[in-house]
Amino acid sequence: MKTLVLGGTAEARHLSEVLGHTAVLSLAGMTRTPLSTPHRVGGFGGVEGLKAYIQQEDIQCIIDATHPFAAQMSRNAFKAQQALGVPLLRLERPPWVPAPTWLMVNDLLQAAAAIPLGARAFLSVGSQSLSAFLGREDMWYLTRSIEPPSQAPRHGICLLQRPPFLLADEKALMKTHQITHLVSKNAGGAATQAKLEAAASLGVNVIMVKRPRLPAVLTVETVAEAVKWVGKLGA
Ligand code: NAP
Repeated sequence: MKTLVLGGTAEARHLSEVLGHTAVLSLAGMTRTPLSTPHRVGGFGGVEGLKAYIQQEDIQCIIDATHPFAAQMSRNAFKAQQALGVPLLRLERPPWVPAPTWLMVNDLLQAAAAIPLGARAFLSVGSQSLSAFLGREDMWYLTRSIEPPSQAPRHGICLLQRPPFLLADEKALMKTHQITHLVSKNAGGAATQAKLEAAASLGVNVIMVKRPRLPAVLTVETVAEAVKWVGKLGA
């Protein structure tokens, strides 16, 4: 089965490695990642571009393994599936279970509004998501991303690092920078979970952005389940 894997996550990379030459991994091109499996890079040009790609490349099934917050790509995949009837599966890691102390917000603007005046905030939201915090000139921020952010609030620093992150390092980072608030998207997964344990043990307030609503499609949580789904389609 010629499978289009919509990527941008570690799970997508792993899945494309397991599927091998029957799969094409598609990346938006936000980060530079060396790949040994078949792949393509860059947007398709909206739903119409995605549909054209699926037809030109004779794609037989799609696995949407994008990040839980990459809502536009997931919506486009759903619309393409509706139009063309190509089977679509979503591979999505489970969200972190909210702790009673977390402040849950709907989006990044709400998160920015929830940070108190003069806070020292660890904005663990990714390099493309800092625009919501630009108006907060009163606070100091720490952010961390794989690629440098194109824009960021005025007072603070950006660390360039790639997950996974360890508990001891997360604690040291928060202590060194006297972090009072941690802002995170509910991405889920083990690779970036240590920051939540570190915040809990240091009494750092957590502001957690809920996942966006996505179209209802058949969803699995693991690479193994996705591989099984492809196998069943091809049987
Ligand atoms: P998005 O808002 O859902 O997508 C914006 C546009 O980027 C899409 O319409 C599409 O352009 C292109 N695109 C996104 N994913 C693509 C893919 N896998 N292959 C080809 N084109 C893709 O996505 P985003 O939030 O900007 O995230 C961009 C990428 O980074 C995604 O692949 C996502 O998995 C990854 N990522 C996102 C986050 C996050 O917090 N949002 C975190 C970690 C990783 P066209 O309309 O032109 O096709």
